[in-house]
Amino acid sequence: MTGLSSTGHLRVISFKVALLAMRILVIEDEPRILGFLARGLEAEGFAVDAARNGAEGLNRARRDNYDLVLLDLLLPGLDGLTVLHELNRARPDLPVMIVSARSDLPTKLRGFGLGAADYLSKPFSFDELIARIRVQLRKARQGDNGHVLHAGTLVLDLARREARVGSLTAQLSDREFRVLHHLAEHLGEIISRESLLSEVWGYHFDPGSNVVDVCIRRLRKKLGADAPIETIRHAGYRLTAA
Ligand code: CA
Repeated sequence: MTGLSSTGHLRVISFKVALLAMRILVIEDEPRILGFLARGLEAEGFAVDAARNGAEGLNRARRDNYDLVLLDLLLPGLDGLTVLHELNRARPDLPVMIVSARSDLPTKLRGFGLGAADYLSKPFSFDELIARIRVQLRKARQGDNGHVLHAGTLVLDLARREARVGSLTAQLSDREFRVLHHLAEHLGEIISRESLLSEVWGYHFDPGSNVVDVCIRRLRKKLGADAPIETIRHAGYRLTAA
């Protein structure tokens, strides 16, 4: 960012502020590359999380709400293409950019075939990476209107974090959204408190805690009398289809 006039700097700074909430997950096992990516992306104003193997990356990408994933292919355990395949099934709306030392055409085509949004070969220019990331985030913003999940009478707007039931629209907190999203992904299934607790609050939470029940109460209040959330005594909760 050298050589900019003072007005240029202002423009860059306001752009960074606008990007502040953008979250990127980097799935990369090579510490040197991971460190380089994390530092660089953070300097550009992104919030960065790292996963050092495929399984951890897949879990985090499924569990948390990222705007974009950077994915290495040669990873210990679960390889990158498998992660991509699983992720595309679980979160088809999440852009995944492959950043790999493998630059052969068959691998690239395989990656695109499995749902990669973009493919960048190592070694890469950091400026090009940032430019490509911005293209993806811009596309995601433009396509936000299509990112809705229909689960019975519930419509969940993944981009706006809104829930709609009939004519009622509710703004959801992060936790409320994730609880409802988890239930919606398992429409009709009974989901235990423990499962919601570990999915949304993380494993360190006290299993005796009533945070799940409190959150469900808030959701019902927000979604009104027609909230399709059912309590199954001694078992958990279920989002009903009707
Ligand atoms: Ca690697």
